Amino acid sequence: MKKWVYLFNEVKEVEKVALGSWDAVKALVGGKGSGLLDMTRAGVPVPPFFTVTTEACNAYQKLGKFPAGLWEQELRALMEVEKKTGKKFGDPKNPLLVSCRSGAKFSMPGMMDTVLNLGLTDMTAAGMVKLTGNARFVYDSYRRLVEMFGSVVLGIPDEAFEHPLKEYKNKKGYKFDTDMTADDWMHIVDEFKAVIRNVQGVDFPQDPYKQLELATEAVFKSWNGKRAIDYRNATGISHALGTAVNIQTMAFGNMGEDSATGVAFTRNPSTGDKKMMGDFLFNAQGEDVVAGIRNTHPIETLIERMPKAYDEFMKIAAKLEKYYKDIQDVEFTIERGKLWMLQTRNGKRTAQAAVKIAVDMANEGLITKDEAVERITPENVDTLLHPQFNDEAIAEAKKTGTLVVKGVNASPGAAVGQVYFDADTSEKMAKEHKQETIMVRPFTKPDDVHGMIASRGVLTSEGGATSHAAVVARQFGIPCVVGASAIKIDLDKRLMNVGETVVQEGEWISVDGTTGNVFVGKIPMTTPSIEEQVELMTLLKWADEICARKDMRVAPKGSPTRGLQVWANADYPKDARRARSYGAVGIGLCRTEHMFFEPERLPIVQRMILADSSAERTAALNELLPHQRRDFDGLFEAMDGYPVIIRLIDPPLHEFMPDEEKLFEEVVTMRVKGETDGLKAKEDLLESIKGMHESNPMMGLRGVRLSIVMPEIVEMQVRAIFEAAADCTKRGIVVKPEVMIPLTGTVKELEWIQPRLERIASAVMQEKGIKFEYKFGTMIEIPRAAVTAQEVANQAEFFSFGTNDLTQMTYGYSRDDAERNFLITYQEQGILVKNPFQTIDRDGVGKLMQWAIDEGRKTRPNLEVGICGEHGGDPDSIEWCHMIGNNYVSCSPFRVPIARLAAAHATLTHRPKAAKKAVVKKVVKAKTKKVVKKK
Ligand code: PEP
Ligand code: MG
Repeated sequence: MKKWVYLFNEVKEVEKVALGSWDAVKALVGGKGSGLLDMTRAGVPVPPFFTVTTEACNAYQKLGKFPAGLWEQELRALMEVEKKTGKKFGDPKNPLLVSCRSGAKFSMPGMMDTVLNLGLTDMTAAGMVKLTGNARFVYDSYRRLVEMFGSVVLGIPDEAFEHPLKEYKNKKGYKFDTDMTADDWMHIVDEFKAVIRNVQGVDFPQDPYKQLELATEAVFKSWNGKRAIDYRNATGISHALGTAVNIQTMAFGNMGEDSATGVAFTRNPSTGDKKMMGDFLFNAQGEDVVAGIRNTHPIETLIERMPKAYDEFMKIAAKLEKYYKDIQDVEFTIERGKLWMLQTRNGKRTAQAAVKIAVDMANEGLITKDEAVERITPENVDTLLHPQFNDEAIAEAKKTGTLVVKGVNASPGAAVGQVYFDADTSEKMAKEHKQETIMVRPFTKPDDVHGMIASRGVLTSEGGATSHAAVVARQFGIPCVVGASAIKIDLDKRLMNVGETVVQEGEWISVDGTTGNVFVGKIPMTTPSIEEQVELMTLLKWADEICARKDMRVAPKGSPTRGLQVWANADYPKDARRARSYGAVGIGLCRTEHMFFEPERLPIVQRMILADSSAERTAALNELLPHQRRDFDGLFEAMDGYPVIIRLIDPPLHEFMPDEEKLFEEVVTMRVKGETDGLKAKEDLLESIKGMHESNPMMGLRGVRLSIVMPEIVEMQVRAIFEAAADCTKRGIVVKPEVMIPLTGTVKELEWIQPRLERIASAVMQEKGIKFEYKFGTMIEIPRAAVTAQEVANQAEFFSFGTNDLTQMTYGYSRDDAERNFLITYQEQGILVKNPFQTIDRDGVGKLMQWAIDEGRKTRPNLEVGICGEHGGDPDSIEWCHMIGNNYVSCSPFRVPIARLAAAHATLTHRPKAAKKAVVKKVVKAKTKKVVKKK
């Protein structure tokens, strides 16, 4: 005979049927059933119960009636429960009452049915009154049963019961249910019975077995109720699973002053402190505690009136934590001095608590360090490192309509400030007037950086996740929302409109770079710091240890077998220092052109660009050389002992020149006004800028192409790099410069430029009489370079994937405009699942990367491979980089901690079986050692 029913003590039998898989246990007896079985096995006092399987439910759906043997098995199980509790179902002298609850494999909260207090009849109710001396409690419970039975089993609408109760209370002048007396509830029981009779033409069954049978059937049916079907459709839960039914002894916390009920967390879910936190009420039901109608007592005061139950509760809570190896959120009831545990589940917690609990539990030996690292999500780390808006304040803002627009969440963190519509004013207000500012622009350009840095946050109405504003903001850890296209900025009137709302310059807004939300007004927030977060630092150290283990990747000779390293993108020494303090072990990208924008350098750069002769250009470059040397010197010093990748100039030269349109306006104005002073110079400049105009500058004269057309610039840069490196070496600093050539499309480009630059490197080292390790390599940003990687690696000693450009050129989507124009629609329409500028498109761009690595290493087996596009800080992309054999990922300093964690996750997820076993063995060995020592 098929087994449809399992008793509280039959977890082993269930496991046998499920072939040892806990997932299959859950599928058979449901989430709640498996939890109850597991708790009982752990030795916790759980009210005795039995569970009807999901298979029985499915059989019922097919047959339209109970399958053969089910009812008999329920009856037999009920007898076991009677034995265990010493009570009897339907016995007026000592009646057993049970609940009948649904419980599918996956939680479907509130979507299916429950009937409580089954077993109450006119006879047993009277018996219970005698037994408890509490008639009010008994008839309150009874009317609940009649009502639930009527609505769940017989399908009578709730209002049919609510109406007479309301009328009765009105008649009596009662406001609350608590005003009702025993006699009142007795009266209501009769009225509810009459409702059933009038609506359905049947009597409420006085046979408790009939109640149980019909309740079981009703729960089965509720699996195919509209609510449940809709919920499954929305959440993707299979309709074929069926629900289990749990029939469990009722435990009452409202049986008098020796009864109580409460909820507790085994540790503090906000801070993670190892101290229980909970509330309870004497003489109450569970929902009274949660509903917050009555003032609850803190859990520690339970000891005063119920020391024995309190003691037992504390012991059980500790046991549950040990058993589940996680913070538990428990529900309990004390029925006339006897403690019952009703439910336990892993407690929800804040990011701060998650990290503290994971680290504490590893230190307590409850979990391994690997498990601690696995438990923390990248979002947890993100939350801990960026100022955050207060949850309640956000909820309030949503209610009051101050949340006005949502854009692309470009750089995480929360910022509150006064709006300014250009970089100079933002900087001025911040520096001179000590204001907190938010710079708002349609988009940003390199000469807006000073305003961005001075601001608390940045908001743009155009651009996407790799737009200039987004890249710079992430690099400097400035909260930033881009592409908020509903905002209309009027730069002349100095205001912006969002729908009906108008924000004038100087007014306050709040920008949430984590979610992309923008609010008008000030939203309160909290700010953390990494150094003070001892547990986070510990956890990240463990993450690094995981990545540093040998043989964590199966790889051909020369490829890395350890996990990924995390490097950072940093242009200035102070960014490099921050990157190191956040745990970066290299600089993966220093964008040298940012240094050209410094106010005292820009005029020299412009002179260099506009030079008519090579001599004039060389003179300007000679002026720039000491500045660049100083920049690199600072970087090497900050990164003492670690590799520093310096990328040679990349953007088209027009980016360093004044804006063409603005200059044209100035020239026209001067002509109209007849002003001649300086007009000629401006006209010449305008002509030169016009001459530089390109229809498609991102695909124009930039990167290595520019270096070939105008090699003097990169020659100066290489000289500066090697002079700085030599000077640093003399000061005892260990330098590892790596010179990176951007935007290579064919190896021929490298063959042309690289030897010229290498000759300069050798010359400088000879001049300085110093030797040190160095490399020349290239970015892989153009699909052709990826496809021909085998040849490219003949020249390049390292590859670094510039996935911003590689994505742009592989998809053919403009990295500056796509998000604004169509990418969000594409995501909404399901054409793209993720934004490819945020998360590597594994099927396209990712494949090219994989190919490039495999081909490159055919030529150069130990080819160093990294990534320095924005994807280097994205956990999903980091996992891909691990899978295809990168040596490192490089991201903005502020994302380094997240990348360290994500790299460890990737290492653990993809470790070969042998590595998994080795760790388990080690842990077992360590644990055995401890025990031996103790003895
Ligand atoms: C890239 O293209 O991914 C890259 C890092 O270079 P940039 O963003 O400076 O073009
Ligand atoms: Mg690029």
